[in-house]
Amino acid sequence: TARIGVMALQGAFREHRAALDRLGAQVTEVRLAADLDGLHGLILPGGESTTMARLMSEYALWEPLRAFHARGGQLWGTCAGAILLSREVQGAPPQFGRQDSLGLLDVTVQRNAFGRQIDSFTTGLDVQGLNGAFPAVFIRAPAFARVGDGVEVLAEYEAQAVGVRQGRVLATAFHPELTGDDRLHDLFLQGCLTPA
Ligand code: GLN
Repeated sequence: TARIGVMALQGAFREHRAALDRLGAQVTEVRLAADLDGLHGLILPGGESTTMARLMSEYALWEPLRAFHARGGQLWGTCAGAILLSREVQGAPPQFGRQDSLGLLDVTVQRNAFGRQIDSFTTGLDVQGLNGAFPAVFIRAPAFARVGDGVEVLAEYEAQAVGVRQGRVLATAFHPELTGDDRLHDLFLQGCLTPA
């Protein structure tokens, strides 16, 4: 059985938990560094990335998350979670200055990449590794504007990368936990049980 954590500081963590429960994973809500012990994988949910970053500082999670990755843990960030995994973040309001991120994924992520007038939409996406279109929910979604050499693009929307993977780090700009289609969660679980 895969032991999977969901960072539960803010955002859509309950929906991820529900998807993982449906697939029979053993799920832990992660708020403290000690909650990471014994996990195969961790999901960073969508929500609001500057708020989540502030809470990660309050809960002293930055270094423990990097250490979790370094010791072989698998990570998956969705939307705001994907922003937190990225090396460089663009599009934060100027008064916030440079936005902190984990830097575990060699991409530059552009926040709110799909414009205000379409804050939210759902579209069928081709995702590498899945058969048939995946119902992708975009909510003020980011896009991966620069993708480093070691990063594999798994999905694109309007010529922008919206799903990427680099080693043990998976990131999607959209929310796969809101549709009831659990194929991406299943893919993540398989990766956690049989690391490449
Ligand atoms: N726009 C949000 C951010 O920049 C992300 C939105 C989401 O996670 N649905 O943090």
